[in-house]
Amino acid sequence: MKIFEKVSQKITDTSKDMTQKAKAVADIAKLKYQITAEEEKREKFFAQLGKDFFNDNSSNIPDKYLFICNEISESTREIEKLRQKLYTLKGVKICENCGAELDEGYKFCGHCGTKLPEYQTISIKDAPDFVDEDACDDERLGEIKF
Ligand SMILES: [Zn+2]
Repeated sequence: MKIFEKVSQKITDTSKDMTQKAKAVADIAKLKYQITAEEEKREKFFAQLGKDFFNDNSSNIPDKYLFICNEISESTREIEKLRQKLYTLKGVKICENCGAELDEGYKFCGHCGTKLPEYQTISIKDAPDFVDEDACDDERLGEIKF
């Protein structure tokens, strides 16, 4: 009888171990998910901080941020060019008032009533160019790989 009790106890212990392990696995997965969610949240705040900084300081960007700010401006212009190509290919106009996508044959926006231009050329946003006048003899340029 004692052996039976021991075996029974062993099974109960093993069962408890497995339950604990399963719980630990679930807790690990939950924590990983929470960490990822928190990291994503932080990344969004960093991105917002960067955008705010870019917008607030576009007339006075400190030298150390010139390169990255120029990259942002270049990227912005490229996005606008690509959008322009996309709209042309799709045969659509974009309402400059509400942003609605409309057939290029339309004269007025079906959403807000704004008159649409005869031929639309998307105005390429005037993304500022930041020129670092000391760039030529700037040691930092040596670090930039093209
Ligand atoms: Zn509209």
